[in-house]
Amino acid sequence: MLLRMSSLFLRTLRDDPADAEVPSHKLLVRAGYVRRVAPGIYSWLPLGKMVLENVTRIVREEMNRMGGQEVLFPALLPREYYEATGRWTEYGDTLFRLQDRKGADYLLGPTHEEMFTDMVKGEYSSYKDYPVTLYQIQTKYRDEARPRAGILRGREFVMKDSYSFDLDDDGLKRSYEQHRETYIRTFDRLGISYKICFATSGAMGGSASEEFLAPAATGEDTFVACHQCGYAANAEAVTTPAPAAITGERPALRVLDTPDTPTIESLVDHVNEHHGLGITAAETLKNIVVKVTTPGSGKSETLIVGVPGDREVDFKRLEASLAPGEPAIFEAEDFARHPGLVRGYIGPQVLKDLGIRYLVDPRVVDGSAWVTGANEPGKHAAGVVAGRDFTADGTIEAAEVRAGDACPVCGSGLSIDRGIEIGHIFQLGRKYADAAKLDALGPDGKPIRVTMGSYGVGVSRAVAVLAEQRHDELGLVWPREVAPVDVHVVGTGKDGQIEAANRLAEDLQARGLRVLVDDRAGVSPGVKFKDAELLGMPTILIIGRGLAQGVAELRDRVTGVKEEIPIDEAADRVVAACRA
Ligand code: ATP
Ligand code: MG
Repeated sequence: MLLRMSSLFLRTLRDDPADAEVPSHKLLVRAGYVRRVAPGIYSWLPLGKMVLENVTRIVREEMNRMGGQEVLFPALLPREYYEATGRWTEYGDTLFRLQDRKGADYLLGPTHEEMFTDMVKGEYSSYKDYPVTLYQIQTKYRDEARPRAGILRGREFVMKDSYSFDLDDDGLKRSYEQHRETYIRTFDRLGISYKICFATSGAMGGSASEEFLAPAATGEDTFVACHQCGYAANAEAVTTPAPAAITGERPALRVLDTPDTPTIESLVDHVNEHHGLGITAAETLKNIVVKVTTPGSGKSETLIVGVPGDREVDFKRLEASLAPGEPAIFEAEDFARHPGLVRGYIGPQVLKDLGIRYLVDPRVVDGSAWVTGANEPGKHAAGVVAGRDFTADGTIEAAEVRAGDACPVCGSGLSIDRGIEIGHIFQLGRKYADAAKLDALGPDGKPIRVTMGSYGVGVSRAVAVLAEQRHDELGLVWPREVAPVDVHVVGTGKDGQIEAANRLAEDLQARGLRVLVDDRAGVSPGVKFKDAELLGMPTILIIGRGLAQGVAELRDRVTGVKEEIPIDEAADRVVAACRA
């Protein structure tokens, strides 16, 4: 492949786009890889399309190596399949729904469990047919609440999704392990650094699941890691070790006057100063009211969540715990409809009588005593004992996770970082097979219900993640296998440099390299160098002023090392650098 800057469909931009906040978005737009069409909807220009194709090819090669077989489904799907599993409604506002001219309902596929299950059911019938793994690399549609950061979170994006079909749990575990290994190979080859984290299964149903998170300061996911035992988990999936229940004599409940104590901090100061308690915020119980909507039902339930007062409620953890229910903030008008709930002074003592469901942080064990609201304006209660003065309807993982919290496996302190989800592997189990009645006829003539796994890679997102993880102040820095070309040959000057660059570029192409040559006349060296750095090809060869002395400059974009080399050796040196 030989691309010439003089004719390449490319215009780089000097300034960051106004709507871009994260480096990958800024750089991919400035370098002319992608262009915005609408929020979360992007076009790929030639260089961007090449990177996307390279990522796609690597993902495909590794899926094939594993024994996956590629198929392709439509993105435009009839409602029935998603109705059967409940996801037509469960998916909520994230699903793009539309109607055809006859008024029949359709959707744009956000993920394809239903379709794959149906396909296998159509073709296979005997236990001898299994196991099988099918995949596709296809455009997905999700009407994300917050499309963001260019192609990082799009409303239209490319995903590799695969599905394994097995006859028993051991088979499913094997398929899952194979996918895990395939993802490790894939992301290693792509040059993305990642951490494998325990995950929640969200709207998918099913049990075991892990996410591949690419550490990045701009990531939307938070994950914890234990450097002692290796445990790593998405913050959404972190389980809080519960202390032992407390038995024996407990303090009596007493109601305290606590005027003007709207915050936990003011409450702690007040009770310590005026009531001689000597407590910390961790000994207060903060009660947060939310309304939880079940998508499609139009119904919403009032729910109260109790967490130790030194912690905020982490809304993403709350959402993950309540999925597919969707929590929303309890507004002033909601309080107006619930006179029993005294805003700012809610305590769990009355919730049974009010018929409001109450879920608590796992630290709120039986026998633990708390300072909490007394359900009267300006009053709190101390010595409110769990199991005696109130009984929760269950526990919930909703409190924020903090650096230094105890690892649920070994108890050492956890560290916290941010990351971007690039892959997700799930043991789905039989949820979708049950909905589709997907059975294999067993050796004894009895049906065996098939068990499934579902596995995704964010293909277009991976392009952004690479840009996010690999760039410097000058521009992009692509790993060789995903870079649009191996080498960017820059000719600058009016004394035969452009001709020399063209000859070298042709020579390099003939030797099997993918080459971009900057053969533009009338463009200053400064502009050409800036473009070369912005575009981020791994090797840069400059034919400039030194040509008269027979020298060229070889630059390694990754290490930044610059070297003067004899022009006669340039082709050999570039080939060696690209094959290294
Ligand atoms: P997220 O939590 O980031 O919304 P998800 O858990 O909904 O992602 P999955 O359903 O597991 O995503 O999809 C598989 C993969 O597809 C994800 O690991 C991610 O890499 C990619 N992906 C998901 N949503 C988007 C999106 N809006 N834009 C680009 N890639 C996405
Ligand atoms: Mg996911």
